[in-house]
This record gives sequence, structure tokens and C-alpha cells, in this order.
Amino acid sequence: MAKADLAEAEWVEARDALAAALRCGWGLLKAGGSALDAVEAAVVVLEDSPHFNAGHGAALNAVGEHELDASIMSGAMLEAGAVAGARRTRNPVRAARAVLEEGNCVMLIGPAADAFAGRRGLDLVEQTYFTTARRSDSLAVMKAHEQAGTFEGATEAEKHGTVGAVALDGVGHLAAATSTGGYTNKPEGRVGDSPVIGAGTYARDGVCAVSGTGQGELFIRHVLGHEIASRMAYLGEPLEVAANRVVLEDLRPHGIGAGAIALDAKGSIVAPYNTDGMFRGWVTPDGDLSVASHGEVFLLERLT
Ligand code: ASP
Repeated sequence: MAKADLAEAEWVEARDALAAALRCGWGLLKAGGSALDAVEAAVVVLEDSPHFNAGHGAALNAVGEHELDASIMSGAMLEAGAVAGARRTRNPVRAARAVLEEGNCVMLIGPAADAFAGRRGLDLVEQTYFTTARRSDSLAVMKAHEQAGTFEGATEAEKHGTVGAVALDGVGHLAAATSTGGYTNKPEGRVGDSPVIGAGTYARDGVCAVSGTGQGELFIRHVLGHEIASRMAYLGEPLEVAANRVVLEDLRPHGIGAGAIALDAKGSIVAPYNTDGMFRGWVTPDGDLSVASHGEVFLLERLT
């Protein structure tokens, strides 16, 4: 995302939301909670923030509606849950977690996903809850690009903004979660990488946890999360080498904006991206909380 895409106050607010998500996840981990609980809770905070393309503030599709995708994975037994094309579930990552807990399928789609969320006692909302002025404007801009045949000129902020979290807990379990509205002006019914286990989200104990953002079709084709884990497991590459290879090199010929956050079993954290900027933040095992959007990293506080 180019600096010019947002006003300074919006960058600050978005970084504040990131910090709130990190505090929330850290608080659970500190209290002995699982990595799975931590990533779900962190993503809920980001879904509730209007600054990201997930939950409240999600992108609008080509017919001016929200179709939300989310997934969550536990590295322990490779349990996973996902929803795709949800239209009424306030926090899609919670529905994904409920799918994981139910255990009889990995992905639910469309109205059935919303109905399932309702049966599990999750909040259902009207579509208008998800819509922000910024997303409506982005849709208008993207429609104009479409008319003019200038899609390439659209900024990353107009197109993207998926949220994700990865965590390692005190007993060594890894987890990952991702939630998105997809990209602005996406075709109705289109499902991206975020709910596809192995593509936008992947976690495997002893190896790594990954959540990605970028043009989902290519993440599915490159099986991004699983590819990073595979390079580590089969080639013995360190996390940074594997993640950089997949995000910065394998995707390069496609010329898309791409990024990922990833964490290995030792607690190494990486967040490679090939755009001007990408929101990211982390808490080290010592409790140091940092957030960033571009090159500058803000070390905000030491959590206890
Ligand atoms: N990966 C998301 C998708 O393709 C979009 C994004 O990350 O911006 O649905």
C-alpha cells in the first residue's frame, strides 16, 4: 500500500487496531490459552475494525455485496475450519472456528455457512453492517477502472486488505487464521485463497504457521502456505528463506502485490511483502509489541 493511499490519521488508527489485536492474542497466550484461541481473537479485533478488508469494512463484490471468506487451522492435529461466501456472519473467523470444532467438514459455503453460524449462536448482521464509505468509494473507482480498461492502475488499497494472524503457544502449538472480503469488484460467487487451507492459511506444528494476502487465485495455484511449509520440511530451509522464496520470487512473474505473515516452531517471525507497504505487527516472546505498515517499525510497548 502506498503511503498516499491513506491519510496519516488513518494509518495511525489502523496501527492502533493492529496493536489491539496483538494485545488481545498475547493476553490469551499469557493466560495459558492456545495458539488457536489467540489467532481467532486477534482476527476478530481486525474484523471489527473498519480499517481492514474483513468483517466491518470488507470489500464489495461486483454486484455491490459482501461475500466473506475466512479460515483457521491448528498445527497440532492439522484440524481446520473455513467459511466461504458468507453474507451475514458478523465475524467469519468465529464461524470458521466453529466449523473446526464441529469437525465433520472443513468448509461451509454461502447461506449454509451463515445458517450454521446462526445455529452456533454467532451474531448475524445485515449486509449494511459490513459496508463503509471507503469500500463503496473503492467499488466506484474499480468500476471506473473496469470501464476504462485500467485495472492495472488501481492501488493495492482499492483492491485488498485481508487480515490474518499466526501464533505459537506455550506448549509449542502453532495456529493460523485469515479473514477477508476478497478484492473489490470480485465476481459474485468467487472464492479466494483465504478460506482454502494450504493456500491462504496453513499451520503445522514443528514447521510453521502462515497467513497470506494478495491475489488469491495465484495463492491457490502456488498453494502458498503449504509451499512455504514444504520448503522448510523437505529442503530444510529456514522460515525466512522459504517465505521469501515463495512470496518474493515464485510469485514475481505474475506481477501481483503479495505478502504473508509467518512464524516457525522456534518463534521466528517474518512478514515478507513485495508492495510499498503491508500492515504487520508482532509480539516477541519477551512481550515487545511492534507494529508497522511500511519500512518504519514502531516498538510500542512491552506487554507483561
Ligand atoms: N487474498 C484475498 C483474496 O484473494 C485478497 C487479499 O488478500 O487482498 O480473496
